[in-house]
Amino acid sequence: MYVGIDIGGTNIKAVLTNREGEIYSAKSTGTGKTIKEIDDTIVDIISEFMSAFSDRGTVQAVGIGAAGSIDGNKGIIITSPNIQAWKNYPLARNLERRLGIRVFLENDATVAVMGEWWQGHGRKFRNWIMLTLGTGIGGGAVIDNKLYTGQSGSSMEFGHISIDYRGKKCKCGSIGCLEQYASASALARNAQSLLRKYPASALNLRPKGEPVTSKLVYEAAMKKDELAVHAIEEISFYLGVGIANLVNIFNPEAVILGGGLSKAHRMIFPIVKKVVAERALPGLKDNVKYLAVKTQDKIPALGAAKVAIDSLGL
Ligand SMILES: [Zn+2]
Repeated sequence: MYVGIDIGGTNIKAVLTNREGEIYSAKSTGTGKTIKEIDDTIVDIISEFMSAFSDRGTVQAVGIGAAGSIDGNKGIIITSPNIQAWKNYPLARNLERRLGIRVFLENDATVAVMGEWWQGHGRKFRNWIMLTLGTGIGGGAVIDNKLYTGQSGSSMEFGHISIDYRGKKCKCGSIGCLEQYASASALARNAQSLLRKYPASALNLRPKGEPVTSKLVYEAAMKKDELAVHAIEEISFYLGVGIANLVNIFNPEAVILGGGLSKAHRMIFPIVKKVVAERALPGLKDNVKYLAVKTQDKIPALGAAKVAIDSLGL
């Protein structure tokens, strides 16, 4: 058996699976704030899995996905936007010491792509790209049926391709990065900035002090709220510009959207397709399928388990 763990900013999601990706059990629990809390939570989850399913064998390896800059070879979290205390933190080694099981670490976007490749839409294609729309924008590419990892195991940072060289400053130090315009956080900021222009918007009726979140915007847009629809249209345009660039580079069979905001794909894709049709090259933009991940919940954790299975070289 294998355990896959997806450490998000809010929740830690875990699955216990076999080599074929059949899920025996899944858990989701609050992430916690400190290094110790997170380590303890992971150890507890794995111990619970092991005692509940001891009749099916032992856990042979654990795969973990976490947001941030990761050195997968050393199992180190260099920095993470979610957990400030994680600075050059040897998460994999510390857990290995406590559990006595091999632990492998990867970037959260990479495990999401891996999961989609193994058990999602990615199974159907040899060449495809994925963008995860969350706090930032992550990405991944499968080229000729191989996950492209770059030199250091960290690549496809689609959120940091620049779509406006004179544009908004990004925390990465660059200017005009896609995630400043088309992530879930960008959607929330965009909606916030439109509140006065749309006094009739339901978003103006939210409880005092409550921030505008991408979830609220999405829910309002589903009810045809003018502000919310406009805000989603704007970010979809920018996303389209980014995806047009990616289509020119990869000529993919499919573009798959993941992350929380991918729920809004019915509103996002028509605009993305229009922008790609206007901007990408003929021949490269043809026959591209646009898909959203089906089961947002367990796929990244499953992908983390697959990372562990592959790393063991089984
Ligand atoms: Zn950036």
